[in-house]
Amino acid sequence: MTGNELRERFLKFFASKGHTIVHSSSLVPANDPTLLFTNAGMVQFKDVYLGLDRRPFTRATTAQKCVRAGGKHNDLDTVGRTARHHTFFEMLGNFSFGDYFKREAITYAWEFLTRVLELPPERLWVTVYQEDDEAYQLWQEIAGIPAERIVRMGEKDNFWAMGDTGPCGPCSEIIYDRGPEHACSSTPCALGACDCDRWLEIWNLVFMQYERDSNGNLSPLPRPSIDTGMGLERVASVLQGVDSNFDTDLIAPLIKAVEKITGRTYDPGEAGFPFRVIADHARSCTFLIADGILPGNEGRSYVLRRILRRAARFGKALGIDEPFLYRLVDTVVAIMGGAYPEVAEQQEHIARVIEQEEIRFHETLNDGLKVLNGILERARQEGREVVSGLEAFTLYDTYGFPLDLTEEIAGEGGFKVDRDGFEKAMAAQRERARAAREDVKAYDFALAFAGALEDISGTAFTGYDQLEDKGTV
Ligand code: ATP
Ligand code: MG
Ligand code: MG
Ligand code: MG
Repeated sequence: MTGNELRERFLKFFASKGHTIVHSSSLVPANDPTLLFTNAGMVQFKDVYLGLDRRPFTRATTAQKCVRAGGKHNDLDTVGRTARHHTFFEMLGNFSFGDYFKREAITYAWEFLTRVLELPPERLWVTVYQEDDEAYQLWQEIAGIPAERIVRMGEKDNFWAMGDTGPCGPCSEIIYDRGPEHACSSTPCALGACDCDRWLEIWNLVFMQYERDSNGNLSPLPRPSIDTGMGLERVASVLQGVDSNFDTDLIAPLIKAVEKITGRTYDPGEAGFPFRVIADHARSCTFLIADGILPGNEGRSYVLRRILRRAARFGKALGIDEPFLYRLVDTVVAIMGGAYPEVAEQQEHIARVIEQEEIRFHETLNDGLKVLNGILERARQEGREVVSGLEAFTLYDTYGFPLDLTEEIAGEGGFKVDRDGFEKAMAAQRERARAAREDVKAYDFALAFAGALEDISGTAFTGYDQLEDKGTV
C-alpha cells in the first residue's frame, strides 16, 4: 500500500464511522500564539476542546501536516539518527468532541489496524497510563491483547495535558514490534525500557477526561473527548515491509534524487545520515514555504533558515558546492502535490526561495572560509596550535560554520579546536536565545492581537480568551 493510499484509507475508514473529513490546517497555527508550528492533529481543534469554538460536527478526521523543529517537541537533532523521526511528517487522526470515548476509540483503532491494514495482532503492543485500569481492561476485552503485551507507564509518557490547566487525561499508545532482530544493545531491549527503533510507536490515543484547575486538582469533564495521532510514514514503513521511514515511497524518491545529484550511493547505515537529513529537510522547507514562511532571522523564519542551511551543509558533506536543495522540490511535489495542492500550486515560488537562500548561504560560507584562514594565519604567527572556542563559535554563529567543518579545515593545517570553549560559548548563546524566544512570543502575540481586532470589527470577540490560553500542545 502506498503512502497516499494509506492516507486515503484512513480518512475513508473514519468517514464510514460518521467522522467529517477536515483538511489539514496550516503549519502556522491560526489561533495559538504560544506554538511555533502545528505539531499535532488536535492543534486546529484546540478551541473546540476548550469550548471556545464550535463545529457543525462532533466527529472529525484529518491528515495533518506537522513540524517538530522547535518548542516542546523538537526532533531536529533526531532526524536521520532514528528510522522514525522527521522534522516534517503527517499525522493521521480521529477526533471526538464530547461524542464517543475510550471504548469506541480503542475499537476503531483496533479495527483499522487489524482488519483494514491487516497488521498481525501478535506484533502489536500497547501502553496505558499506570492508573488507567479501564483502558487496561478494554484492550483485553476488545482486542484480546494478552496482559503481557500491555505495559503500564507513568505520567511523563502516558498522561497528556493541553497546558498547566484545562483538559487533560491518560493516553494509550500502540506499538508495533519490528522483532528481536531489530533489538538494541540495552539489556533488556524492552518496551518502556529503551527508546530504539524495534519498538515503533505508531498511534497515540488521548483520552481527555479531566479538567485541571489552577491548584492542580482534577475534576471529571462532563463530556470527555478523544484526540488521536498516528504517524503516516511510520505505518507506511510497516505496510511496505521496510526497516525505516526513509525507505518508504513517501521519502525514498527524495533519497534517490540526492543520489542522482551527488553521484553517490545511499547507505542505509550511518554513512547515509546526510542523505536522510537532506530528504527530510527538503520536505519541511517545501511545506513551510508553502504555508507562507520565508527564511529570516526571527521566530519561524529563523527556524526555516536553520533547517535550510543545515541541509545545504550536509550537501557540502556529500561534495556538492552549489545550490541543490531547490532541485528536490519537484520530487516533493510529485509525491505529495495531490494530497496537498498548496505545494503543487506554489512549486516554482518554493524552489526560487530555497535557491536564493542557498546562494546566500554559499556566500557566507565562502566569507567564513576567508575568516578561518585569517584565524589560522594569526594562530601560526602567535605560535598557537589551537583555535579558541570563541573563534570557532564566531565562525559558527556568524558564518553558519559547523564545528566539524572548522575542525576539519583546521586539522589540515595541523591545528586543534578548543571544543570545551566552543560549548561554553554555545551555552552562553543559548541563554541569549532563550531571552530572544520571549520576543518571538511577543511578536506572535501582536499577530494574534491583530486577529482579535478583526474580530471586534466583525461579530463575536473571542481574542482575549485565546490569548490567555497557555497551550503547550
Ligand atoms: P516518539 O516517542 O516516537 O518521539 P511521540 O510520543 O513524541 O513519538 P506523539 O506526540 O504521541 O509522538 O505523536 C503521535 C504520533 O505521531 C506518534 O505515535 C508517531 O506515530 C507520530 N510521530 C511523532 N513524532 C514524529 C516524528 N518526529 N516523525 C514522524 N512521526 C512522528
Ligand atoms: Mg517524540
Ligand atoms: Mg512517544
Ligand atoms: Mg506518543
